[in-house]
Amino acid sequence: MLKQIAENIYRKTVPLPHNPLRELNAYIIKGEKSLLIDTGFNRPECEEALRSAFDELGIDAVDLFITHLHSDHCGLVSKFAKEQSRVFASETDGELINFGSGNLYWSMLDELFIKFGFPRADFGRNTDIHPGRQYCNGEMVKFTTVAEGDVLEYGGYRLEAVAAPGHTPGHMCLYDREKKILFGGDLILGTISPNICIELCAENPLRDYLESLAKVGQMDVRLLLAAHGTEITDMNARIRELCAHHEARLAEVQKILGSGWKTAYMVAPEMNWDISCRTWEEFPAPQKWFATGEAISHLQYLYFAGKAQREEREGGYWFRNA
Ligand SMILES: [Zn+2]
Repeated sequence: MLKQIAENIYRKTVPLPHNPLRELNAYIIKGEKSLLIDTGFNRPECEEALRSAFDELGIDAVDLFITHLHSDHCGLVSKFAKEQSRVFASETDGELINFGSGNLYWSMLDELFIKFGFPRADFGRNTDIHPGRQYCNGEMVKFTTVAEGDVLEYGGYRLEAVAAPGHTPGHMCLYDREKKILFGGDLILGTISPNICIELCAENPLRDYLESLAKVGQMDVRLLLAAHGTEITDMNARIRELCAHHEARLAEVQKILGSGWKTAYMVAPEMNWDISCRTWEEFPAPQKWFATGEAISHLQYLYFAGKAQREEREGGYWFRNA
């Protein structure tokens, strides 16, 4: 569905087949030169959806703004970037997107998860079906790097780049200060809590994320255009809910740690998950990955806050309450 949100701003819901997120909101700002914000997976269903939106709007070439490195946001970059197109992303996520198109990124990420206790034996089936790997862009992209405060102008909007790391190390939003509109990517979602997961260049992603929420919470936003779900009109209420969610999660993880030493992979199955599986064994492989990533980010937060101890044993990290 293509929906006009404001003057020259359109939202296209792009299907994400067989994915719990179900849809991505791609935003198109129509102007002399138009801007596409996020693309969907590198899958034909996503490409068709975007092409039909472009046809409906009479748009041919676009510039692209990629909020972050996840493949449901950048999978089709190379299919929609024409020779004259500029493709904007933060330096960090731009580099990770290009690095992620090769196998080295994924094997390094595997090693990182193994360091936190994820069983090496499970990796074949996990990473092979990881949607980020399966539907990534796959080609090198020449990014135009954007940093905090850089301004992009499209369709009568003056969009400032806002660095909002946490969900990914180089996650970026776009903000029109005068019209009080924020294109938030996956920073704040209405119905689900964005996955906060360890990444190659982020040791403490939950701290980064909470700092990003605090920073954006200071901004005057009338309309938050999120990359999944409906638009959010009371951003600060949602920020309070997300902060409370992570506070509760941190308390839950401390309770699970109890008095013993545990790895993140031992903590994850004991956390509460909003998923229709009775046991950890029933979790689909990618969900085990995301759950473990969440456990890691909360344990690392506790460790860097001095609330948990971390010890390296046989090449892996173990945690206990401080
Ligand atoms: Zn994401």
